[in-house]
Amino acid sequence: MADQARHILGLSGGKDSAALAVLMHRRVPQMEYFFCDTHKELQETYEYLDKIKARLGIRITYLSSERGFDHWLNVYGGLLPSPKMRWCTKQLKIMPLEQFVGDSQAISYVGIRADENRDGYISTKPNIQAVFPFKEEGLVKVDIIRLLEESGIGMPSYYRWRTRSGCFFCFFQRKYEWVRLADEHPDMFAQAVAYEQSHSDGRQYTWTQGETLLQLVSRRDEIIADHEKKVAKAQAAPAPNRPLAEVLAAALDEEDEGQGCTVCHV
Ligand code: SF4
Repeated sequence: MADQARHILGLSGGKDSAALAVLMHRRVPQMEYFFCDTHKELQETYEYLDKIKARLGIRITYLSSERGFDHWLNVYGGLLPSPKMRWCTKQLKIMPLEQFVGDSQAISYVGIRADENRDGYISTKPNIQAVFPFKEEGLVKVDIIRLLEESGIGMPSYYRWRTRSGCFFCFFQRKYEWVRLADEHPDMFAQAVAYEQSHSDGRQYTWTQGETLLQLVSRRDEIIADHEKKVAKAQAAPAPNRPLAEVLAAALDEEDEGQGCTVCHV
């Protein structure tokens, strides 16, 4: 790829892309950082991006779909997105990114770790070439957490109850995260319930498999107890001097590796 290629790094508002910015910002001073804003993010995600900007002294371009989620929901006839029907990723993340790059030659830095078994977004546009610095350098989750701690950025604040950035109603959330969304952001939880209940095509959809959000939240105690068992198991694992953030990451990520809205992160 020509020397004048643009260098781009997509921040998702999550830990891995933030750590990649920590690793790369001095190595590639001309890096262009961007964030695909769905307008359905948690406030904590915007605050985390502000912290990354301030700590690293970088600028972030916020890319938005010209028309937001609600417009596209209408276009898709009221069909809520799901793992099998990911129109949200296409319309709210991939299209804005591809418009941002246009026909320029671009090298896209992707924060997939060496301990992950996934490819992430691979552009169908031949002018965008993806590179994977963590994979190339063998960096795994513990390295990412340490990079963030040493930079003073730390983990996203939502991480104490949720592993993912992205839309507050993301269908990749685990049941525990839904329950905690109801605790932390009852207004957003109510909006997610409303999306389930009102469809222009009159059908009933659920964000999470097998039950509505109201049914799910009625099982709150059971879901919390189940999660606490997983945290206890992660804490009991023999690994002296593990930072607390790492223990929590282990517990929260237990069911998630290789899937989830991380595949949404471009
Ligand atoms: S975060 Fe989830 S709901 Fe939002 S665009 Fe990505 S996959 Fe879709």
